[in-house]
Amino acid sequence: MAGVDSSPQDLTGMTHGELEQFMLGLGKERYRSIQVMKWIHQGLADSFQGMTNLSKEFRRQLAEKSFIGIPALERVERSHDGTRKFLFRLGDGNLIESVLIPEGHHDTLCVSTQVGCAMGCRICRTGKIGFVRNLTAGEIVSQLLAARRLMPESRITNIVFMGMGEPLANFDETVRAIRVLTHPNGPGISWRRLTVSTSGLVPQIAALGREVKVKLAVSLNAVTDEQRNAIMPINRRYPLSILLDALKRYPLPRGTRITIEYVLVRDLNDSDADARLLVKLLNPIRAKVNLIPLNSEGLDGLESPLPDRVRRFQEVLIARSLMAIVRESRGRDILAACGQLAAARDPAA
Ligand code: SAH
Ligand code: SF4
Repeated sequence: MAGVDSSPQDLTGMTHGELEQFMLGLGKERYRSIQVMKWIHQGLADSFQGMTNLSKEFRRQLAEKSFIGIPALERVERSHDGTRKFLFRLGDGNLIESVLIPEGHHDTLCVSTQVGCAMGCRICRTGKIGFVRNLTAGEIVSQLLAARRLMPESRITNIVFMGMGEPLANFDETVRAIRVLTHPNGPGISWRRLTVSTSGLVPQIAALGREVKVKLAVSLNAVTDEQRNAIMPINRRYPLSILLDALKRYPLPRGTRITIEYVLVRDLNDSDADARLLVKLLNPIRAKVNLIPLNSEGLDGLESPLPDRVRRFQEVLIARSLMAIVRESRGRDILAACGQLAAARDPAA
């Protein structure tokens, strides 16, 4: 860990506590961690040279023992709706994507937590490429720092862990990244504006609630085990009743709700009866529903719902007092929308 390993350490992913230990290991004062953290996350420094409130000797020492990890920009695509998709190259050549979504006064950044994904959901293009590796906390946090550098006029206040990968399958690095992002000396993201989305890893949902205060989104996508088994293999391990029970027990921060993501697939989970059953299942849970019409590009045998069905499904929920919005897929024309992030190694993928 910090200070023990002699290879240069990536400071971008270090929590405040880890950075303190790192400074002590260098024989420096504890408060140096505050200065360096602010330079990296607030000053967006990409090297130690400009850290003018540190002595030259200290800067030289830092450059020898550590680095500030930043992904290289491989490509940026802009959608007609203003959404931007960044393709980043990591140190080992792997490619990941982050999506910047403008939303009125503020912007949301959707970050990746893994290269690929092992969960194999049938609805999802990321699932199709399989699992390559976990991202480090530094690689998760640096997506925000890189986006802010590339788009100085953006106002990224919200982060969603909804890009490539299953965040809770990369639990430790996800939690470290959350601690950095929400630390007062860090990039200044409020926990109220940070959402982790999971396909439903039940033990890790409970563990997340114990470790950090953060908002939770769950890709439910179905109202029966039969439906869910057909599109999400994880359901065989943690069936609906067990998942819903975990949601009931999640220590929801006051005034917040769990976001239930529900990808509508034509003739699979989009009937009025499905909508009514969804209301019933969510009755004991403080939830709101995001309805996402399936992006069917590149998927075999699954189709997008008809627009009338989507409206009707939403009406059934709202008529029964369940908050429900239809999340139009942003950046669809550049495949930046949900379930469309599929870069791994080949930029042409
Ligand atoms: N692995 C996490 C986070 C990334 S997936 C999770 O599954 O929650 C982000 C969201 O995209 C999920 O809600 C998923 O259900 C949705 N999604 C996946 N494929 C999609 C597709 N083809 N069309 C629309 N939404 C999709
Ligand atoms: Fe992985 Fe989420 Fe896609 Fe499922 S929907 S394959 S969990 S990224």
